[in-house]
Amino acid sequence: MNQNLSLDPSASVLLPVAKKEKIDTVWDRHKAMQPQCGFGQLGICCRVCWKGPCRIDPFGDGPKLGICGATADVIVARNVIRMMAAGAAAHSEHGRHVALALLGVAEGKLEDYQIRDEAKLRRIAGRLGIPEAGREPREVARDVALATLFDFQNQDHHEPCTWLKASLTEKRLDKLAGLEVLPHNIDAVVTGIMARTNVGCDADPVNLILGGVKGALADFNGMALATELSDVLFGTPRPVITAANLGVLKEDAVNIALHGHNPLLSDLVCEIAHTMEDEARRAGAVAGINLVGVCCTGNEVLVRHGIPLAANYLSQELALLTGAVDAMVVDVQCIMPSIAEIGSCFHTEIVTTMDDCKIAGTRHVSFKEETGAENARQIVTLAIEAFKRRNPQRVLIPDFKETSIVGFGAEAILEALALLDAEDPLKPLLDNIVNGNIRGIALFAGCNSTNAKQDSSFVTMAKKLASENVLLLATGCGAGAFAKHGLMNQEATLSYAGDTLKGVLTAIGEAAGLGGPLPLVLHMGSCVDNSRAVQVAVALANKIGVDLDALPLVASAPEAMSEKAVAIGTWSIALGIPTHLGIMPQVTGSRAVTGLITETAKDLLGGYFLVEPNPEAAADKLLAVIDERRRALGI
Ligand code: SF4
Repeated sequence: MNQNLSLDPSASVLLPVAKKEKIDTVWDRHKAMQPQCGFGQLGICCRVCWKGPCRIDPFGDGPKLGICGATADVIVARNVIRMMAAGAAAHSEHGRHVALALLGVAEGKLEDYQIRDEAKLRRIAGRLGIPEAGREPREVARDVALATLFDFQNQDHHEPCTWLKASLTEKRLDKLAGLEVLPHNIDAVVTGIMARTNVGCDADPVNLILGGVKGALADFNGMALATELSDVLFGTPRPVITAANLGVLKEDAVNIALHGHNPLLSDLVCEIAHTMEDEARRAGAVAGINLVGVCCTGNEVLVRHGIPLAANYLSQELALLTGAVDAMVVDVQCIMPSIAEIGSCFHTEIVTTMDDCKIAGTRHVSFKEETGAENARQIVTLAIEAFKRRNPQRVLIPDFKETSIVGFGAEAILEALALLDAEDPLKPLLDNIVNGNIRGIALFAGCNSTNAKQDSSFVTMAKKLASENVLLLATGCGAGAFAKHGLMNQEATLSYAGDTLKGVLTAIGEAAGLGGPLPLVLHMGSCVDNSRAVQVAVALANKIGVDLDALPLVASAPEAMSEKAVAIGTWSIALGIPTHLGIMPQVTGSRAVTGLITETAKDLLGGYFLVEPNPEAAADKLLAVIDERRRALGI
């Protein structure tokens, strides 16, 4: 039974524990929810007003219009673009938080943070058109932070967001401007979507979806600025060897799981935990403090500090079921409220930290940047106290962990390539794409969903695409899946890569002093770090003078789940990238919307959604897309 729920071997060990102890997990709740609402699955239920809720009968003689007269097309379009707005809000709020922290550092108001990558700060200043030569880092940082915050304040509709302008090809910016979908202000665009989808407003499905595309591009803008400014404050990822899956927990250490998305607190916990090792040992933890990651906060500290990754989204409850997690510290996004209940079945402290992200029944430490180090110390102390209450009889740590080489941001990839050609780092990559050694590039992103067997499609698709010489990049919980299943190490390259891809990865890996190939899948970071993949693609496109929709580049989210994924997938197609979804999106109740995003988008944007739940078939379809792009390029 468990084999059908998750590919993760840790699930096979821990789900029986949950059953024995009568603790429900996400899979139990999914089962209890069956059959799920068919109207919701098709996207044709509406709760926009209190005359409703309304639902459209998709098959029979029931209502074809909501009480207000809204068609299925209008209802579906409104619902899905509200999801895009929510996704854009989530990523961009994260970005604003980081930008404000950078401003605080620049103004000398935040003692616990510093500029860790001055060279990157100066490069960013250059991209944004801010003078940096001969100026103090803090002066530059202030201008960068203010230019970034302007993307939340600008009221001039004709002036697109700063980061978007600095991040895309000229051709793509022109195309998006022609469609009038370039956002000028993240907050205004999110508000605009909420306004136009209010009862009795925009009732044109095409116009609504174009409004959603603008929101999704605002999401991209928010993600790009969050990633880049985080690198300035916390360091730009470099390749690091670490490990993944629940076997990274230690019986003889205080285990602290860092969960959520935003590095502002977790990075300080990493720093402070080092200073509290003796305290942990005095409490009986022979191995001191063991930090592990969950979800994208996990990915943030993984790629920057090599902190091992314990779990991706669907495994967060499993981490608690080990009985070995002393504190799970959460910030924002993708945190299951159920962890409060499961934590209470053990000794585990569930610590919420953001004032707008509390969970009833858990402890809250109100994180503020001004007192960040003190908050981190408070949290580590709570974990050490909890360790003293841990019941060793209830500890069961699955003996599964895989070596993972991670930390391949755009800079790290270019640095690795520069070892082959210092003058022209992109040339080796481009040459190998042109000669077919690399058939194409696939970016895996997105979440886990109970609507699929956890991690399974990621692994199946990656093995197939790699065997066909497709270079694989990954972010977020998709990257977590690959790390847990041993696809981010050199052995995976030797086992699964096609011969020509293996040759390229080996040449780069050996030049980089790894004594073997690069890993099969390159871990680029958390889900906001999808912008790193775009940076590499834009560099390639600019080098050969084409737009992004000419590149043999595809994206895939086999287990897309969150509103953030809806926004990411939509900007991905808006940038010209064919994007696979392994889960049926909640739009199929509208032929107009479905046709728009899977077919018309191809003509308008070059990118489009490709829905295929079967991973083998999905890989074949993506290969066909890659080959179509290659033919169009004449290679
Ligand atoms: Fe029904 Fe229209 Fe109200 Fe939606 S907005 S609930 S379709 S009446």
